[in-house]
Amino acid sequence: MKLPKIAALITASGGIGSHYVLHKLQGHPKIASLYEGAFRSNGGTTKSDLKKYLSQGIYPGQALQTEQLHPVKDLRNPSNVDWIVMNKPPIGTVLYHQNYHRDIPIIYIFRNPISFFHTWLRTWKEYGDSRYASRHLDDEAIFKWFKGTFLSSLFHLAQFYNPERDHIISFEHFFSDIDSALAKIFKTLDVPVLKNEELKELERCPICIEKLSTKVIDIPGGSGHRKEEVLSCEEHGPLLGPGHYNFIRKEDSSFLNKWKQKEDTEKLCSRFSEIYGKDFIDYYYQEKYLEDTDAVIFDDLINKFLRRLKI
Ligand SMILES: [Zn+2]
Repeated sequence: MKLPKIAALITASGGIGSHYVLHKLQGHPKIASLYEGAFRSNGGTTKSDLKKYLSQGIYPGQALQTEQLHPVKDLRNPSNVDWIVMNKPPIGTVLYHQNYHRDIPIIYIFRNPISFFHTWLRTWKEYGDSRYASRHLDDEAIFKWFKGTFLSSLFHLAQFYNPERDHIISFEHFFSDIDSALAKIFKTLDVPVLKNEELKELERCPICIEKLSTKVIDIPGGSGHRKEEVLSCEEHGPLLGPGHYNFIRKEDSSFLNKWKQKEDTEKLCSRFSEIYGKDFIDYYYQEKYLEDTDAVIFDDLINKFLRRLKI
């Protein structure tokens, strides 16, 4: 019996579009993307289930059936998919299993550190408002925290990164040219290359299987509340995925350069250049990803950066 292989989608933290990527992968007939809690001993499959699967081939299909993103596929039969993609597991968990299974690929999302930092600023402000008694961290504290989090994740990645097996998604490319970005992931996983519009999307209510219509609602989120049209079931109401994922949101890439309009851009560019290198930050400032369509320059910059982190 052919069992699906395990891959891991890794990010330094939330707020980097991981559910957008994971839902796109779930739309591929040969790939299943899991919920963040899967294999995490969090009510469903556990860390020990992952170990049993990888070490003894005990496949937890019945449990995984309810731990995959929508639209669901039949995971009870293991030969239905080639890949099961773990949703942001701790990188240490993946590295541990990689010691025994050299073939577990890491798919890592990298984003312009300055715009990612702005997402952090917004997220922690909102978090303080709603969940820490309106207490706010100052920007400097968030800067330090962000720097440590992103760099330690990249440091880990750099020690084990294998470009033959792993893949680094450029966030900016994913949003400005999704078909090419998807093609690279599908080639890494050696599954048929499909275009964005060929991927399966959610059409029916997961509870009652009725056809879904649309409705405009207020969606909370790190970037502030936004009014958006979402899928909705007449009986079960509006449907959002994890991380307030809107199944029909059409991403437009115009937000990618918004960070340049902030007042402290110059200061941040020089601070981040000290860490990531001036050429890397210039790449984002000059929006070179728009011309670097096949990401040759991006790959070169990120590889150079990871080599610097490799000790
Ligand atoms: Zn329904």
